[in-house]
Formats: sequence, C-alpha cells, structure tokens
Amino acid sequence: MPEPEFDFDLFVIGGGSAGVRCARIAAGHGARVGIAESRFWGGTCVNIGCVPKKLMVMAAEYGAAARDSQGFGWSSPPAMHDWPVLITAKNHEITRLNHIYQQLLEQAGAKIFAAEARFIDPHTLDVGGARITAARIVIATGGYPTRLEIPGVEHGIISDDVFYLPAMPRRIAIIGSGYIGVEFAGVFAGLGAQTHLIYRQPLPLRGFDQDMRLGLAEAMNESGVILHPDTLPMNISRDGETRILALSDYSSLEVDLVFFATGRAANTQGLNLAAAGLETGENGAIPVDEHLATRTPHIFAIGDVTDRLNLTPVATAEGHALADTLFGDNPRRVSLERVPTAVFSSPPIATVGLTEAQAARRGAANVFLSRFTPLRHNLSGRVRKTLIKLIVDVDTDKILGAHMLGEDAPEIMQGIAIAITAGATKADFDHTIGIHPTAAEEFVILRTQTRVVGPQSSP
Ligand code: NDP
Repeated sequence: MPEPEFDFDLFVIGGGSAGVRCARIAAGHGARVGIAESRFWGGTCVNIGCVPKKLMVMAAEYGAAARDSQGFGWSSPPAMHDWPVLITAKNHEITRLNHIYQQLLEQAGAKIFAAEARFIDPHTLDVGGARITAARIVIATGGYPTRLEIPGVEHGIISDDVFYLPAMPRRIAIIGSGYIGVEFAGVFAGLGAQTHLIYRQPLPLRGFDQDMRLGLAEAMNESGVILHPDTLPMNISRDGETRILALSDYSSLEVDLVFFATGRAANTQGLNLAAAGLETGENGAIPVDEHLATRTPHIFAIGDVTDRLNLTPVATAEGHALADTLFGDNPRRVSLERVPTAVFSSPPIATVGLTEAQAARRGAANVFLSRFTPLRHNLSGRVRKTLIKLIVDVDTDKILGAHMLGEDAPEIMQGIAIAITAGATKADFDHTIGIHPTAAEEFVILRTQTRVVGPQSSP
C-alpha cells in the first residue's frame, strides 16, 4: 500500500545478495523502492566472495586434472599457470555480473543510489547527501573480513584483497581454517604455491562433522598443504618483500603473503543506528526476530548483517521472503533448519542436517559411513578418498544428516537436501535405484551400519 507521506514505501541499504533480491521483488509487487549501494552491486558474493572464489577453485582444479589425465593416456604435462590471465578473465566476468545486478534492479523499477546511506531518524536517511524518507527500511549491509590483533597485522591481507593480487605468491601462510581458509589453501596449493595453513584447532572446519574434518586434513596433506594444527600466529615482520610469521610453537615461516581468514564482522559502523533506535550485538550484528524485524518495528535486517547463518542463499531467501511478506500478500519465513552448505575445498565438502556429534546429543542415531577411492583416481594415481556419510534417527528412520567429502559433493548434496527437507527416511534412500557408476550412488547403497551413537557416546 503506497504511503505518500514518505519518498519510498521501502528503502534498502546495501546492494548485495539480500538487498538486491528484496528490492527487486518488492518493486515487482508494486512498492516504490529505493536502494543504496556504495561499493559494488551484487555485494561480497558476486564481487569478492563466492563467485570469483569458485572461478579460482576451478583454475586450481584444471592443473590437477591435467596431471590426472596422464593416467588416461594424455602426455603433455600441465604448463605453468599464468595468474594475470586468470585475474583478468575473472574481473571481466565479475564486471558482467555486476552490471546484470544493476540492470535487474532498474528493470524491476527500483530507484538506485550509488551512495552511502545513514540514519538521520527512524524514517529518514542521508543517502549520499540527499535526505530521503521511507515507510520501511531494510538493512542489508553484509559483513567484512576481520584480522587478528597481532603485532605486524598490517603486513597481512584479507579475502577482499586476495582477488586482486597482481602476482601469485610463491609461498603463502593462511591463518584460520574456516570456509575461507581451507578454500584458499586448495586454490593456492593447486596453483603451485607452497601453502601453509595455520589454525588453533586440532582439525580444520570446526563445527563440521568429525569424519569430514579428518578426511579433509588428510586430503590437504596429500595435496601438499603444510598443516599447522593447534597453532596460533604471534607476530608478522617484514624483510623486503618477505613476510616472517612467528608461530606459537616457536617456529617461524618465511612467505610472500600472510592471509587472515579469521572470520567476518557485520557492516554496521557507518549507519548511525542509534538515530534509528537500534543497537548492535556481538560482532556488530543487528538482532532480529523471526520476522527479520529489528526492535524498531518498521526497520528490518537481512543477510550477513544479522550474523546468524552467513550464506548467500540464506540471504537471498530472506530478502525474497521479506518482500513477499511486506508487499506481496504472501507472509512467510525462511527456516534456518537443514540448510545445506558446501565448502569448496580440495576436495569439497557438502553437508545438510546434523553432524554425528549433534545427532548423538539429541538421541540414538545409526551412522553409515563409506570411504572409497573414486574410479577416476584408480587410473590417475592421485591418492584421494571420497567419504559419504548418513546419520539416521533410530526411532523414526529419518535421515538427520548427510555429509560428503569428495569431487562433486556440492552438486550431489543439493539433491540429497531436497530429499531430507521432504522428510526422507533411510528406507526411502534404500528403495532408490543408484546411477552407476557414480560416487553419488553410494548414498543409496549404504547398507552396513558403521556404529550407533547416542547421548552416552557423545563427547
Ligand atoms: P569462519 O568463521 O568460518 O572461520 C574463521 C577461522 O578463523 C576459524 O578457523 C577460527 O578458528 C579462526 N579464528 C577466529 N578467531 C581466531 C583467533 N582469535 N585466533 C585464532 N584463530 C581464530 O570465517 P571465514 O573467514 O572462513 O568465513 C566467514 C564466513 O563466510 C563463513 O563462516 C561462512 O559463513 C561464509 N563463507 C561461506 C562460504 C561458502 O558457503 N562456501 C565460503 C566463504 C565464506 P575457530 O574455528 O577455532 O574459531
């Protein structure tokens, strides 16, 4: 319903995955929509996140595939990788996508502002110097990568920088073993750099299923990544172009680049939230209720700025659901249960539902685990295992969690996630005929239970 006393029915701050979707869908429902973005349309995912990262992962995979091909009769060894060619091609693709995002908004009828926005009062924004009012405001400003406060921190880079390096580092130390750390360890090792991964846990990817974490550590080790578990970075110094990274085990590394992959914080500093009656929580995040409303009821927050489940598809789903709820006469919520996710490590991990430890805390669960060498690597000679795991509720036979480490895991898990969202049981998986020969068929031929876990067995 238009509210003429305001300039806009809806103003969205931030043109990333969440904001663009929200603005576009709301405008499609007939709302008068404005949207401000001060950096780049498409936000982190399109410009300095998921999309360019995936292109870099693909670049690394070509090198390994070329080496693998020798086992299949191909004779030419892979040539040296040309970093500037990759970065130029990647930049070209990102610019294209960037324009598409802007066009989508314009075609939907949203008014776009290439400017920063900050609150003047709960209904009024300063947008690049212009005073703009809106009946409802959505904050979708995302997050930014953080560094650790250690001496010499200024000698390290963050993920924003890694996409624009003028040259490939020959030696790199990556700090942190979350999504970004393990993904870029695969990229740089795959492109031929001496790659160190420094992390404070015994295994990478805290929060993921233990078998997948173990399998990934083994695979990274096999592919030449030098792992430094249970280790903290202490200090970075510089000697010419070389960075010297001192570690908590009293060793030090000489590298060309130190990369902090140590988490992200919500992007809320410049918004003047106090003028809107808002406060931030931990990590600068904006608290929201189940309807994505802040404590000022006509102001909403979606995507990474709320720091709940920081994944692009969650952000776009929230943007869409909010626009449908406010302007489309279709009120709905986005469930954060059973959200599938993938880590584009080498090999990738994909997962949906509970880990074994989470399932065990909840009740008795059957665990089915298969570990095998994929057909390709019987000929390629590459030492590489695929892991496939299902966790099943003992009482209901429902699949509680599915996990895979191995090539194509993210592509495979999307379909498995549909089945699990629909409430599939282990019997449903067992009745499904496999597609042969694939790795994915293992999900429907798992018959031998590996173990039963429950509250007594949980750590
Ligand atoms: P994560 O939170 O995933 O990982 C941060 C890493 O830094 C962890 O290893 C963490 O260790 C470590 N760390 C944090 N603080 C310290 C500290 N004080 N000392 C030592 N180590 C520390 O963050 P990322 O930066 O990897 O990624 C940010 C988010 O972006 C992800 O969580 C994810 O939501 C999203 N993302 C999603 C991707 C995808 O979907 N494929 C890809 C990339 C990012 P510990 O585990 O011990 O806390």
